[in-house]
Amino acid sequence: MEQLFRMLSILTELPEGLLQCDARRLIKVLPGPTLIKLEGKQKNALFISVLLHGNEITGWEALRSLLAHYRDRPLPRSLCLFIGNVAAAAQGRRYLPGQTDYNRIWKEGGAMAEHRLAQKVLAELDGMPLFAAIDIHNNSGMNPHYACINRLDAHFLHLARLFSRTVVYFIRPDEVMSLAMAAYCPSVTLECGQPGESTGVLHAREFIEACLHLSAFPAHALPAPEIDLFHTVATVKLKPETRVGIAEAGADFSLLPDMDKLNFTELPAGSLFGWTRGQRLPLQAWDEQGREIAAEYFDVHEGEIITRTPVMPSMLSLDREIIRQDCLCYLMERLQLPQAEHQAQHECAD
Ligand SMILES: [Zn+2]
Repeated sequence: MEQLFRMLSILTELPEGLLQCDARRLIKVLPGPTLIKLEGKQKNALFISVLLHGNEITGWEALRSLLAHYRDRPLPRSLCLFIGNVAAAAQGRRYLPGQTDYNRIWKEGGAMAEHRLAQKVLAELDGMPLFAAIDIHNNSGMNPHYACINRLDAHFLHLARLFSRTVVYFIRPDEVMSLAMAAYCPSVTLECGQPGESTGVLHAREFIEACLHLSAFPAHALPAPEIDLFHTVATVKLKPETRVGIAEAGADFSLLPDMDKLNFTELPAGSLFGWTRGQRLPLQAWDEQGREIAAEYFDVHEGEIITRTPVMPSMLSLDREIIRQDCLCYLMERLQLPQAEHQAQHECAD
């Protein structure tokens, strides 16, 4: 178990050989989770976190290509890098048995070793001038590239819009890094499609470059037509002990064979959302207040799970380990920004 977890390492330069390592090999150079602070011309640092989920390699691939480019020239802005779950990355897993999910540890008060790690990282950032924070992820189903924010402030929206016109606002789960970082500076989670796609790496790298060169965020509100903003209204999970299949008669819950194609599709009420045995709904849905509200969204008719209201899912995946470790999907609604509400309230940019 010793190898699974080492406390935070803090470095002020890139260790020899780091940029030659892909995510699986990082563990040969880094003993565990590592914070690397690099000086650049503008002193308000860009915080970038990668590999909170060990199988989501796009962030590291984007970062190492960017760092190779700046190997022999000054960085336009200081960087503070957090390389997360290198032990899970070595095995290509989201997290390892016995670990806590590294993107569910950033709220104060948790009892696991990983919670102490998170508090140590945040303590290191106290007093550091920060320009923005970016946490880079992949997902396992078919999703567009999109950015997530946890506040509807103008600077957060501008930062997210720099990555994609599709933006998701959520406040649950509330143990994610981007929410903790929102206390320090404008903060986003990037969802860069599936791991291993070169378009995701390129997109993430271009976004980081833009953030390195940006001197300040515009103070004015983002015009509403510039953005497709969605609000996560529920997290859908399987009931405990539910056996999942894909188009499999007799499974407790059976996914549609191409269910991930429903991501970011507005489904009318009455849409088929999988199958079950008998009349029992195998799903739970939790709203932002932590209430179980599956019955508001789903009905069962003769083994078919049917939506009761118009919904738009995201993060649907056919990967059963991800479904078990994380959730089945999120349900979203389109959100119109009242212009007055998202004027700049956050002044930590310059
Ligand atoms: Zn992730």
